[in-house]
Amino acid sequence: MQSFIKVDRNDPQKDDVLSRIKHFNEIYSKFTVEKASTQAERCVQCGDPYCSSIGCPLSNYIPHWLKSMAGNDLALSFKISNESSPFPEILGRICPQDKLCEGACTLNDDGYGAITIGSIETAITERAFEEGMEPAFPGITTDKKVAVIGSGPAGISAANFLLRAGIKVVMFERDSIPGGLLVWGIPGFKLEKSVVARRFAMLEKAGLELRLSCEVGKDVSFADLKKEYDAVFVGVGASKSNAAGLENETASGVVNAIDFLRDIQAKLFGKKRTPLVEVTGKKVLVIGGGDTAMDCVRTSLREGAASVKCVYRRDEANMPGSKKEFINANEEGVEFSFLSTPKKINVDKSGKVTGVTFSRMRLGAKDASGRQKAEEVVGSEYVEEADVVILSLGFSHQDMGYLKESGVALNQWGGCEVGETYQTSEALVYAGGDCVRGADLAVTAARDGRAAAFDMIAKLLG
Ligand SMILES: Cc1cc2nc3c(=O)[nH]c(=O)nc-3n(C[C@H](O)[C@H](O)[C@H](O)COP(=O)(O)OP(=O)(O)OC[C@H]3O[C@@H](n4cnc5c(N)ncnc54)[C@H](O)[C@@H]3O)c2cc1C
Ligand code: SF4
Repeated sequence: MQSFIKVDRNDPQKDDVLSRIKHFNEIYSKFTVEKASTQAERCVQCGDPYCSSIGCPLSNYIPHWLKSMAGNDLALSFKISNESSPFPEILGRICPQDKLCEGACTLNDDGYGAITIGSIETAITERAFEEGMEPAFPGITTDKKVAVIGSGPAGISAANFLLRAGIKVVMFERDSIPGGLLVWGIPGFKLEKSVVARRFAMLEKAGLELRLSCEVGKDVSFADLKKEYDAVFVGVGASKSNAAGLENETASGVVNAIDFLRDIQAKLFGKKRTPLVEVTGKKVLVIGGGDTAMDCVRTSLREGAASVKCVYRRDEANMPGSKKEFINANEEGVEFSFLSTPKKINVDKSGKVTGVTFSRMRLGAKDASGRQKAEEVVGSEYVEEADVVILSLGFSHQDMGYLKESGVALNQWGGCEVGETYQTSEALVYAGGDCVRGADLAVTAARDGRAAAFDMIAKLLG
C-alpha cells in the first residue's frame, strides 16, 4: 500500500472521440484485476477514511476493498463491496465521484490525485462476474412479503436487502423495462442497459417477482397493496420536468430533456417511439448545466446533430453536474455558453422554433448557501438560432394523489414525508429516493432503499 509516491492516478482509457460519438456504448474501458490492484495499492489507509465516512452516501467499506484488491484478492473484494452496496458496478460507473468519495480522498487534498475509487469499484464486480461469482441470497425463507413500487435505484436497493433477508418481494413498475432512470434517463454511453438487466436477472433468481407495465394507482390500487402485503416501499422517483415559464415553450421543436432521452432510448430498444423532435442534421440548443443537460448534448451528437450548444445561466465553476461529464461533452465537440438566461423562445409564422432570446448574467454576492447569486445584466439581450431547443431545467414530484388518499402524508413540494427510518406517516409504508428528496442521485436513492429495508426487516422479522 501507499505506493502513491511512485504510482500516479490513472483513469481507465476512453474510446477515441471520433469513434465514440458514433455509438451509445460506454466510453470507458474497465480495469483489469492487475490494474485495479496497482491503483488500489496507492491507498494510504488513513485512520479516518473520509472517502467512506463523508464522501460515500452508502458509507461503502472503501479502504477495506482497496486493501484486499491491493492484495489481489478479488473474491474478498467482491464480497465486501457487495455487502453495503446493492449494485457497485453501476454506481462505480455513474456516481459523480469528484463530488463524493474521490472528492473526499486524502490524496485528492494532498494534490497526488485521488484514488480511482469508482473505476476500481466497477472493475471488482465486473471481473468477479466474469469469473462466475454472484452475490449470495438465501432464497425465500420467511412467510413475509413486501410490495416495492418503482424499479429505479431506490426500489432495486430495497428489494436487494429484503431478498437478502429471505423476504419475498413483488415489484410493481409502470414501464415495460425495469430500471427507472438507470434505463430511461441515463444514456448508454454512461451505463449500458445490459448492466442493469443483469442485476435484475440476479434479483429474479433470488426470488424477486416483477410486475411490469403495472401502474399503482391505475392498474392496481395502493390500498389493496397495503392490505395484501406486510409492508410497502414507495420508490416512484420525481421525473416531472420543470417548466421554464417562457413564451412559446410548447412550440414545435421544443422538447423536455427527459422526453427526448426517453424517446432515443425507446428507439435504441427497438420500441415504439413518441418522437417530439428529430435532431439529426439540426442545430440543437440545450438549456441547463446539470448532468441531464450533459446527457442531452452528448445524445444529440450521437444522433447526428449538425451542431450542439449548451447554454447555462452561471459559469463553468458553478455547474451543478459532474466535472467528468462536462469534460467528456467538451471533448466530443459541444459548444458551451455561460452566464446566459433564456427570456423567450422565438418561432416563425408556422409556430416552429427558430431560436432563443437570452440575457447575459453576472455573478454577484454569495447567498445563504454560499453560492454566488446570478444577476441579469440589463439591456444585454441577444439571440441564439436553433432548429431544436431541449429544456433541461430540473425535475419535480409527479402527482402522488393515490398515496395521499391512503393517508400517506406528502410535503409542501408534493414529495413523500418520511422519518429517520424512511417510514412514512403510515405504519409499514416506506418511501425513498427522488420521491422523497426531489431529483438527486442514484447512490442516495440506493441508501434510502437500504435504510428502509433494514427497518422493515427489523420490524417484520423481529
Ligand atoms: C438524464 C438523467 C441523468 C442522470 N444521471 C445521473 C448520474 O450520472 N449519476 C447519478 O447518480 N444520478 C443520475 N441521475 C439521477 C438518478 O437517475 C436518480 O436520482 C435516480 O434514478 C432516482 O432513483 P429512484 O429510484 O428514486 O427513481 P427513478 O429512477 O425515477 O425510478 C422510479 C420508478 O418508479 C416508476 N413509477 C413511478 N410511478 C409509478 C407507479 N405509480 N406505479 C409503478 N411504477 C411507478 C417509474 O416508472 C420508475 O421506473 C440522472 C437523472 C437523469 C434524469
Ligand atoms: S457508491 Fe459512489 S460514492 Fe460510494 S464509493 Fe461507489 S462511486 Fe464512490
